[in-house]
Amino acid sequence: MRHKITFIPGDGVGPELSEAARRCIEATGVDIEWEVFDAGVDVMDKYGTPLPEHVLESIKKNKVALKGPITTPVGTGIRSVNVELRRALELYACLRPCVLYKGVRSRYDKVDIVIVRENTEDLYAGIEFDSGSGDSKKVIEAINSVSKKKLKSDSAISIKPITRAASERIVKFAFEYALKNNRKKVTCVHKANIMKATDGLFLTTAREVAARYQGKITFEDRIVDNLCMQLVQRPEEYDILVLPNLYGDIISDLCAGLVGGLGVAPGANIGDDTAVFEATHGSAPKYKGLNKVNPIAMILSGVLMLRHIGEKEAADRLENAVKKVISDGKYVTYDLKPTRDDPTAVGTRETADAIIKLL
Ligand code: NAD
Repeated sequence: MRHKITFIPGDGVGPELSEAARRCIEATGVDIEWEVFDAGVDVMDKYGTPLPEHVLESIKKNKVALKGPITTPVGTGIRSVNVELRRALELYACLRPCVLYKGVRSRYDKVDIVIVRENTEDLYAGIEFDSGSGDSKKVIEAINSVSKKKLKSDSAISIKPITRAASERIVKFAFEYALKNNRKKVTCVHKANIMKATDGLFLTTAREVAARYQGKITFEDRIVDNLCMQLVQRPEEYDILVLPNLYGDIISDLCAGLVGGLGVAPGANIGDDTAVFEATHGSAPKYKGLNKVNPIAMILSGVLMLRHIGEKEAADRLENAVKKVISDGKYVTYDLKPTRDDPTAVGTRETADAIIKLL
């Protein structure tokens, strides 16, 4: 069966990584017709927006996309294309499996954690007011009129909205994922002891959803700072973590660190009927065009994509080829070598070639 998939190369190191992933996916023999579109600051002049409507339309139509990382320029007022894409397509679940593969240098023996991050609200909602602006003054006045604790007049403000509906949806996603993938435990991560309204709602809702799965999947909760310590000390005790947006972002990088770094950490953004697959890492602009960084995170994102479109056998074959290249340790990039300046490190293309040879 032929699959039509939207392909967004990205910028920075994006194009070289997504091209490596595309070659590996095609080498599995799965029949894919790619619709290739650019997004990001580079298309601003042409389309007046970093995320043109035709890109969104293509993903909505095909329901699946593979995307390279896209730079969010600092201090230009341009909002993140990555965040906007998730919002516009209602890709409410960010799925980031963190598996320690044999051969990766790590302090641990076993790590197999799946992060389920809420993607649509929390401090990422983009509702922000600059210090001293007219709008922030209005917001401060409104808050001071109802709150016992008073805001200083020059405060900058970022709003953290959390809803019951979005919390229920993401926790349900985590439990359903656990059932489908034979996982045993879901841990809800929060800071409800301090943020009683927002994280409190997330936790109460998680407990309500968990009750529906009692006897099938174990449920527990952890305060986010305590979880950080425990993940570093005993990552083997964790299975699925479900988190609001910001903690999910931070803990994703922490868990990527447990399993060998951003170069091997894949991801997916999933909605009810649409999914965009992309690595956890960003566009690493300083390595752009150097054929240096690790394509494995993008390739493993492709593995997740193949599973999502029902090509399980091809996905398993591609994952096994990746595992073999990692455990052999010969055709791997600098980040998987014992030292960062190891002269035997190969480039992005060569790692992809070694994987393709095994397919
Ligand atoms: P980054 O993930 O791009 O890079 C941080 C560091 O991680 C790099 O300098 C490099 O040392 C390492 N790294 C990243 N990817 C690697 C790979 N494939 N192989 C080996 N090492 C790798 O994070 P950043 O520097 O904070 O962000 C750069 C840009 O990317 C920013 O504009 C940011 O907004 C954007 N970003 C985009 C996405 C996305 O597209 N989903 C995600 C995160 C960041």
